[in-house]
Amino acid sequence: MKILVPVKRVIDYNVKPRVKSDGTGVDLANVKMSMNPFDEIAVEEAIRLKEKGVATEIVAVSIGPVKAQETLRTALAMGADRAILVQTDDEVEPLAVAKILKAIADEETPGLVILGKQAIDDDSNQTGQMLAALWGRPQGTFASEVTVEGDSVTGKREVDGGLEVVKLALPAIVTTDLRLNEPRYASLPNIMKAKSKPLANKTPADYGVDTTPRLKTLKVTEPAVRSAGIKVADVDALVAKLKELGVA
Ligand code: AMP
Repeated sequence: MKILVPVKRVIDYNVKPRVKSDGTGVDLANVKMSMNPFDEIAVEEAIRLKEKGVATEIVAVSIGPVKAQETLRTALAMGADRAILVQTDDEVEPLAVAKILKAIADEETPGLVILGKQAIDDDSNQTGQMLAALWGRPQGTFASEVTVEGDSVTGKREVDGGLEVVKLALPAIVTTDLRLNEPRYASLPNIMKAKSKPLANKTPADYGVDTTPRLKTLKVTEPAVRSAGIKVADVDALVAKLKELGVA
């Protein structure tokens, strides 16, 4: 079984984002970029399925600028077999990403597509669900455990009331939650090996997808600065303070 893993190049999760002075977006100049953390978990899960003998090939896909090649090389160094870069400098919204992934799924016929549950830059949490609808295949979102048996995949999902277990007929779509696994670091020899793994270069036009944005960002602002807390001597003082502030 082939597994397709879409990986997005995003601002590194350790970096504190700065908003551009004109309020048009986040300043990405000279900022460290990395693989979306949920996508690292997706790559790790695919590798574990290959190590268990369930998967035979892992194909990583990224839609983004030429630098997204670095993100794909990271996936290859972790253990993916080959990669596809769908190169564009446009801001690609989840629907266009899902359309491109649908076209790739038609070409590659994977048994499983494992995506992150959300990209930490746009926080959309849409692509996996849209792909499931476009491709007409079942989806198990926010998976914290994934088991493939025969022609189905079982996923554990954390929901408000507890744990939900869903069984999906393959081919299926799974999106990863933080608790699914702890991604491995690529070793130096594997980073070197990844340089010679195949990486295909494509464009959205190759898949007949128009990436023109449908949304217009009107304004981006920094979050309000939190005011400093105060210390109170005891519970009576705390209650008095809360009453004074009108919250008790
Ligand atoms: P989102 O719906 O934008 O929150 O993204 C959810 C998931 O879709 C991500 O964790 C990735 O697995 C995948 N994805 C979104 N955008 C891209 C992209 N440009 N290239 C590759 N994968 C993507």
